[in-house]
Order: sequence, then structure tokens, then C-alpha cells
Amino acid sequence: MELPQQGRAVDDVIADLSAKRDGDVRWQDGRAFGMVYSGGPSVHEVAERAATLYLHENALNTKAFPSLGQIQSEVVRWTAGLLHGPDTAAGFLTSGGTESIQCAVLAARERGRKERGIHAGEIVVAESAHAAFHKSAHMYDMPIHTTPVRDDWTVDVDAMAAAVNDRTVLVVGSAPQYPQGVVDPIPAIAELAASVGANCHVDACIGGFVLPFAEMLGRDVPVWDFRVEGVHSISADIHKLGYAPKGVSVIVHRTKELRRYQTWIFDGWLGGFYGSPNLQGTRSGLPMATAWAVMQHLGVEGYVDLTRQTLENADRMRAGINAIDGLRVLGDGDYHLVAMAADPESPVSIDVFALADVLLERGWYHDRQGPPDSLHSTVSNSNTGVIDDYVRDLRAAVVEVTGTTTDDRSTSYSTVE
Ligand SMILES: *Cc1c(COP(=O)(O)O)cnc(C)c1O
Repeated sequence: MELPQQGRAVDDVIADLSAKRDGDVRWQDGRAFGMVYSGGPSVHEVAERAATLYLHENALNTKAFPSLGQIQSEVVRWTAGLLHGPDTAAGFLTSGGTESIQCAVLAARERGRKERGIHAGEIVVAESAHAAFHKSAHMYDMPIHTTPVRDDWTVDVDAMAAAVNDRTVLVVGSAPQYPQGVVDPIPAIAELAASVGANCHVDACIGGFVLPFAEMLGRDVPVWDFRVEGVHSISADIHKLGYAPKGVSVIVHRTKELRRYQTWIFDGWLGGFYGSPNLQGTRSGLPMATAWAVMQHLGVEGYVDLTRQTLENADRMRAGINAIDGLRVLGDGDYHLVAMAADPESPVSIDVFALADVLLERGWYHDRQGPPDSLHSTVSNSNTGVIDDYVRDLRAAVVEVTGTTTDDRSTSYSTVE
């Protein structure tokens, strides 16, 4: 396995690369419930053309590429507007939800240090909060306290209240949380954070480009965004249900002063002044430009249409699952995330991980999660037109696996190698 001594022809290289994809999940057929979110042919086209324009550009230095500075501030402004940010709201684009969260955690730690003199600020999250908060705590060496969720899978604010202390710098809520798709009680979480002088971050990585449009569609959405007074920052991923290709998310702070806590500047290097908005150095312009292009192409009306479709798909999926004896949907998530588990009250005994194996043979891809053992779906516009086929295959798969189990209990949100 050595790099060839002699370079190869373009067509050869591309043919090999295409062949490599044969074993990959067939998201193009709408059979993946997560990971790739398709806004349809014209959204692909505008993203691909923007990507070609910005394939080589570098946002490391917006003096060299002022267009990328403009692209960033416009996308952040539009996003802040959707999240009802005040005029003072300020943010940055990042490479994804994890990086947005890392920036929010860093901002909370630095604010604790500078305003409250707390060196080792602590984080309080529920067990439903994304693993990226634990990764951040690990990277920044911050103690993190994890509290249980209630029976409806939302944050138990009383349990959080017992976990905060005078070193707490960050309390987290999610809109919605990933595992069961329910929206946490953000006003109560923000109030708790305020009571100890901590930041309140709302993780809307998966919901930031759904909930605003669900509300416009007249769905019942609890207030969760900057309209809640005590919310300091929000993360929202354009590369999920914002329908841009991978590599772009937004972190928005309520004010520029709060945003300043996530930036880093260094003036002691022979290479010159080093100003850093997020965790990256050299920074691809491609995802930033595709986000700009996709958002402009869709506009609010385009997003409302995609959200209507997404929620119809998810509602249809939930109804299909709940109608099958032996299965149930966890939580009352009204939105685009669906967790499917065995129904403990049914005499039909289903191992959902064995079920996932059979569904995969038919091309349907779910993440496996737990506890409890469940199959996770992020439903999107990608799945339009396939839900009836899915429910039919699910019904047949249930018959096939009833009473059987698989030894493989591993879950698989993400992988190391
Ligand atoms: C996807 C997700 C993240 C992490 O985002 P990445 O883009 O995968 O880094 C964080 N929080 C929630 C709720 C998510 O769904």
C-alpha cells in the first residue's frame, strides 16, 4: 500500500474513487435516515456550482478573501434572524455542530474566568445532550456533571438544579435533543443558569433549521430560541436540515461581547498577528459558499416547503411504527427525529438491533442507540416518497425477527477509524 511512484491519469483516478463508493449507504435512494440530507435537484445544483467556485479559496484571512468575510456575516445574520436574535447578535461559521459546541463551551469557560474568576468552570448537561459537550469538557479539562432525563426524555431541571454550584459556567439545553427528538424546557434551564451566573447554551444543531419553519407552519413549538431572555448562545447546523453539504454550522451569541470569549488572538509570533474566530486555522471557503448559496436558493419559503415535507414524512413514519404490534416510538417528539424501540407492553418480542440487520439487508439504514436499545431516524426531505415502502418492509422485517436476537449489541453513532 504505497503511493504510486508515477501519477495516474485523471479518468483512472476518478474511476477508482467512484468504485470505492459501491459499499456506501445509498442515501440517494432515500433509504438512509440520517447523515445525508437532500434538498432535491436544484439544491444540489446550486451547492455544486458554489462548491466549484469556492473549491480552492481560504477563509483563514478575509483580507485576502473579503468575499468569505461577507459570506460569513450574511449567513450568520440570516440564521440569527431565524432564531429571533436581537440586533446585537453575533457569531461565526464553523465546520460543524461539534465545533460550534466547542466554541460555545470555550466562550462559557473564558467568561467564567474573566468575569467571575473561576479557573476550572464546570458544565451541567442532561444525559440526552450531545456527546460533543463531553468531548469539549475533555479537551478543555472542565468538570462536567450529567443529570438524568424525565420520563418524557426532556431535561429534569430539578436534577440540574442539584448539580449546579458556584463554579458552574455552562448549563445546556437542546432543541431538540438528538436521541428521542424532544425539545427541552429552555426557559427553565436559562433561569437556572442565570441563578448561578452561568451561560445557557441551546444546542439546536439538528433543530435550528427545522423548528423556526415548523412554527411558521403552525406547529406547536415551545419557545426555545433567543426570545428566551437568558439564552446566551445557540448552535445550528446548516449541513443537516439546512440542506447544505457537509462542513458548515453556525454559532450565534446574544452579543458581540459574549462572542469575544470564543475568539483568540496572538501577537507574539514571527509569522505575524494570529486572529482566530473558531478552532480552525486554514479554513475551506467551500462549505461557507455552499451554505450561502443553498440558503439564498431556498429562502424562507423553500425551507418551509422542505420542513412541511419532512414533518409529513416523520408523522407518517411514527404512525406506521406505532401501528405495528411489538414496536413503539419513544417520546412525544413532534418533529423530525424518531426513536423506535420494542414495546415492553406487547407480547410480541422484538430485538430492534436484529430488526436493524434485516432492514439493512433491504437497504434501510438507521443509527443504533441506547439505552434503551432503539433505532434512530433523522427524517428529512431525503425520505420523501419512500415512507410507505419503509413501513411495508418494517412490517415484514418484524415478522421475520420476532423471537430472534442478535449478539451484536454495539451502537454506532460515530466511529474512530
Ligand atoms: C449532529 C448534532 C451535533 C453535532 O454536530 P456535528 O455536525 O455532527 O459535529 C450536536 N448536537 C446535536 C443535537 C446534533 O444532532
